[in-house]
Amino acid sequence: MNVSNTYPTGPLQALDAAHHMHPFSDMKALNAEGSRIIVKGKGCWLEDSNGKRILDGMAGLWCVNIGHGRPEIAEAVQAQMAELSYYNTFFKTTHPPVIELSRMLAELAPPSFNHVFFTGSGSESNDTMLRMVRTYWKTLEKPEKFVVIARKNAYHGSTMAGASLGGMAPMHAQGGLPIPGIHHIAQPYWFDEGGELSPEEFGLQTARALEQAIDEIGEDNVAAFIAEPVQGAGGVIVPPATYWPEIQRICKERNILLVADEVITGFGRLGRWFGSEYFGIEPDLMPIAKGLSSGYLPIGGVMVGDRVADVIINQTGDFNHGFTYSGHPVACAAAIANLKILRDEKIIERVANDTGPYLQKKWALLANHPLVGEARMVGMMGALELVPAKPERRRFAGEAGKIGTICRDFSFKNGLIMRAVRDSMILSPPLVISHEEIDELIRLATKTLDDTHEELL
Ligand code: PLP
Repeated sequence: MNVSNTYPTGPLQALDAAHHMHPFSDMKALNAEGSRIIVKGKGCWLEDSNGKRILDGMAGLWCVNIGHGRPEIAEAVQAQMAELSYYNTFFKTTHPPVIELSRMLAELAPPSFNHVFFTGSGSESNDTMLRMVRTYWKTLEKPEKFVVIARKNAYHGSTMAGASLGGMAPMHAQGGLPIPGIHHIAQPYWFDEGGELSPEEFGLQTARALEQAIDEIGEDNVAAFIAEPVQGAGGVIVPPATYWPEIQRICKERNILLVADEVITGFGRLGRWFGSEYFGIEPDLMPIAKGLSSGYLPIGGVMVGDRVADVIINQTGDFNHGFTYSGHPVACAAAIANLKILRDEKIIERVANDTGPYLQKKWALLANHPLVGEARMVGMMGALELVPAKPERRRFAGEAGKIGTICRDFSFKNGLIMRAVRDSMILSPPLVISHEEIDELIRLATKTLDDTHEELL
């Protein structure tokens, strides 16, 4: 449906304000301003209801890895709908698309991963993971191993368990969170919290916060540690090189399951199929979603490593958990078609060896701008730290996020979607972005920084 030809923007905004409650929005403020109406997507580009073209620097919400509007996905979905539009995977039934997707995932994931439990989203994947790790220890007659350690400023979703595992204070403030048995430790955010330490020293210090927490809570009471390989919604926080090896050592030595939340970093974002491979992490479980279908249809899952799968499958008996849409055949068909595109077009190899390094090099040059205190990027996931004065790692006075919001609004006006996390600008474009589109992205980002700078003078 070409909405822009059917409805003018104003009436659509009025209807949206009248009936639609938006996620993560101050709706009163939004309704006064009017929401942006996106009507089309092709490749890396979006179009709004005013006919404005916008470069999608966030791949939707970190998910449209193959770019918008690929007809192969629509064809696969249509064919599957005609064949079997829905059946469930409860009570000893299955169907070809869920079998084929499970097989493909076992082939693509690191060798110790041979099973997957399907969900409808990343949040559901983290709920599933939480019940699975506690069930694992209970089955092994260690039910007191119950606490899951997570990190401040982490994002693991919006369900009660997802938001509890996440470390976002504004989310905990609504709905009586966190649920019991979740403990948060420091994050490896050197730019904001590293003080006088070198990044390497700080990486070790924050990793060792895990060991201290295990000592305080008692090793016999801790089930797992969960973290995103690179914190996404928290501000694209790339841990120092010392961080992950130390976390890995602690989890091994202290008999704690390690969960890598791959909802953003899975399916190519860091130039590997999984972010864990980029950092050499060997997790026991990997929640996935987003890039699994490139967002074309909702689907998520938990990749379950052999250590946990063996216990749940052979010793637990019934695992009393599942969703009506676990392994939905049409969502599986979309995911299969998406994985084939990622694999056959060597998109992830290009992120590792060609377009990724090209974007990283150009992005790094933005650090020369007077407003930018740090420009970092791994794979195709990056951040710019906006600062009032260089070279200090100091934030703007006043309310955090004010300058970020100004910058984000200029960015949209200039035709580029970047997200603001407090006063950091975030980028995570479709993985199919070309060299020419990267040049255009950098031009628009530079203009956006100039406009913001001018506004502040
Ligand atoms: N985990 C991570 C790391 C995420 O970034 C997100 C969403 O952004 C989620 C989980 C939740 O996924 P969903 O929004 O599909 O429930």
